[in-house]
Amino acid sequence: MTDLIGAVEAGGTKFICAIGDTAAQILAREVFPTESPAQTLTHAFGFFKRHARRGNLVHIGIASFGPIDLDPRSPSFGRITTTPKQLWRDFDILDAVARGTGVRGVSLDTDVNCAALAEWQWGAGRGCDPLLYVTLGTGIGAGVVINGSVLHGLVHPEIGHMRIPHDCARDPFAGSCPSHRDCWEGLASGSAIAARRGVPAADLPPDDPMWPLVTTYTADGFANLILAYSPRRIIVGGGLRTRVIGPDFLRRVHERLNGYLRAAELLDGIVSYIVPSQLGDDAGVLGAMALALRSLRVSQDAI
Ligand code: ZN
Repeated sequence: MTDLIGAVEAGGTKFICAIGDTAAQILAREVFPTESPAQTLTHAFGFFKRHARRGNLVHIGIASFGPIDLDPRSPSFGRITTTPKQLWRDFDILDAVARGTGVRGVSLDTDVNCAALAEWQWGAGRGCDPLLYVTLGTGIGAGVVINGSVLHGLVHPEIGHMRIPHDCARDPFAGSCPSHRDCWEGLASGSAIAARRGVPAADLPPDDPMWPLVTTYTADGFANLILAYSPRRIIVGGGLRTRVIGPDFLRRVHERLNGYLRAAELLDGIVSYIVPSQLGDDAGVLGAMALALRSLRVSQDAI
């Protein structure tokens, strides 16, 4: 029987489930809205039950919104922790997927760490280490691949919540982050734009004065990332990417760094240094698959 790999991209608004072979070729996938854990996972378990008949489902990778507890020594390991989504707060997604599918090998990481891993293995980040994957969408987050592994540390990076200079004169908005108000995500995410304007960010015209403001905030965030992680490349995904990343954004990153870091990539090469996601909407689910394949290899090597 063929070995199969399962993948779950647990997003804030939608879930993507996929099943693939051990060469990471996706054989089937399904997308459904994120509702309560019980409703959403019933869909997911149904998908795996139907498609697992194609072979032997040996491992499932989960790329989840966060924050999540990734410390195996912690009593809350495998749980989604302080999410503002009340229904999912403290939900043990790792255990629920293992029980619901009957698959013993289940691995969990953040959606952005998984996307970074997929881009590093198969996409725009091949050969670049450290590599950052930044998503600019409803929220702002980043995954980091360093020395060939995703970065966890104390918890895992939550770069969208770092503080950046708030231009209170031009932008008296208090910020939309329930935890920190005017952090980067609280000022420049899709949610923050919608909170100011009362319409989804995607509906704002290109000449809306909100865009230069969001571009400035985002460039400040990127300059901080370059200073902190010294990445070889930054890959950008998310629905706001095309609205924000452009000549004005790159000029602002230059201004912020002010010639302090001497690297050709930050001068003439910046267009190939900050690049769009190559895997696009597949980055998360392929990342979940990459995570599963890695864990599977580790467990096989241990035998
Ligand atoms: Zn925050």
